Amino acid sequence: MSDRYSQIVNAPILATVARQVGLPQPVDLDRFQPGKPVISGPVLSGAAPGGTLERALKGVLDEIGAERAGAEGKAKALVFDASGIADSTELIELQRFFYPAVPRLRHNGRVVVLGTTPALAGSARAHTAQRALEGFTRSLAKEIGGKGATAQLVYVEPGAADQLDSTLRFLLSPRSAYVDGQVIRIAEGVAPAPDIDWDLPLAGRTALVTGASRGIGAAIAATLARDGAKVVGLDVPQAEADLRAVVEALGGDALPLDITADDAPDAIASRFAEGIDVVVHNAGVTRDRTIAKMPEDRWTQLMEINLSAEERVDDALLDAGLLNPNGRIVCVSSMSGIAGNSGQTNYAASKAGVIGMVESLAPTLAKRGATINAVAPGFIETQMTAAMPIGPREVGRRVSSLSQGGLPVDVAETIAWFASPATTGVNGNVVRVCGQNLLGA
Ligand code: NAD
Repeated sequence: MSDRYSQIVNAPILATVARQVGLPQPVDLDRFQPGKPVISGPVLSGAAPGGTLERALKGVLDEIGAERAGAEGKAKALVFDASGIADSTELIELQRFFYPAVPRLRHNGRVVVLGTTPALAGSARAHTAQRALEGFTRSLAKEIGGKGATAQLVYVEPGAADQLDSTLRFLLSPRSAYVDGQVIRIAEGVAPAPDIDWDLPLAGRTALVTGASRGIGAAIAATLARDGAKVVGLDVPQAEADLRAVVEALGGDALPLDITADDAPDAIASRFAEGIDVVVHNAGVTRDRTIAKMPEDRWTQLMEINLSAEERVDDALLDAGLLNPNGRIVCVSSMSGIAGNSGQTNYAASKAGVIGMVESLAPTLAKRGATINAVAPGFIETQMTAAMPIGPREVGRRVSSLSQGGLPVDVAETIAWFASPATTGVNGNVVRVCGQNLLGA
């Protein structure tokens, strides 16, 4: 972190004062560097009796060359297989594992709790006990956030243990730096997972990124290109120069186009007449006003850009059969769409609608061997948030378990995980990239 607040609260003398008045002290979050291992540091794993995921977990840890923690000493990650917990009395296994383990967790550490999808856990008692894992994991995330550490819960459907690989790699690595307190649901894969080069998981894949000329969209384009994708960046014609500068530096192509234009769905379908692997609906705007002061055109313009145009583009690509096998649609929702926000009825409606689009299309896409998921960013450091008044801006940054805003790359890394051809068991998920922001959590 290099913003003014962290410089002030981390200065030696002021740090003491800041601690005394209870100001949160943000920890520098590790971010992924190409060529680095998935996790650098020992992993401590454990399991409740009757667990079904231990073998799959061991397989992933072996494959990534993870060092195992001994009986003592620090650990970079704690992974607990809670899938065998079938009764509330057995939840004590969480206390038995984490009580001695949490003090051993390093800064920027990772906690992953693995469970069984509650509704498929086999009995009412097992469903109840598995559901309890959510409260546990979210609270643990709040307890360790001060160390820059995160905790997530991954529910795995019975029979889907072989789908853990790409999700565990993401959650254990610095790629998930700003994803915290989330619940991820893994099901059987929608398509056979291909053999991939984990350093270039998107090699040979074509990706469309809307709103790519700046901010989060530019970071998505860069991250997908880093992972091997051929990126086509789209933005409004007025932003063409910036768009070209971003995508051409990545070896990609520019598609200057207003997604709300009448001919946009056809233009996109023609551009990808050979097929497309990954569609990222990132373009979005805010047009804030309370509903009592919201003129119709302000509502409509936003809804067109943030939601209706995306639906038309999806329909055009799907109707023409242009989304390739094992294809991906990834949407960008927002914390506002989950929690609501005063002055943002239009924005929050559009972003909740994006979640509806993910829920409604997931079964259709699964039948075609494809997936649709969404990220819901919290406070991300972009031009949009830099323009906020200092008060709300500082509050927006600090009211998360990690006491800081996220970076565009944090959203991009989460999208890259969804987009990976290995992530075939994650469909219909909405994952917040918000550092466990307390608003609407
Ligand atoms: P930004 O304003 O920097 O970028 C948005 C891009 O979308 C711009 O390049 C813009 O030209 C493009 N765009 C707008 N209308 C378009 C249209 N009709 N056709 C094509 N392109 C269009 O915003 P950002 O902060 O990078 O946000 C990106 C996405 O993330 C948006 O969907 C936003 O709602 C979402 N989001 C951002 C934050 C945050 O904290 N910055 C938080 C939650 C969600």
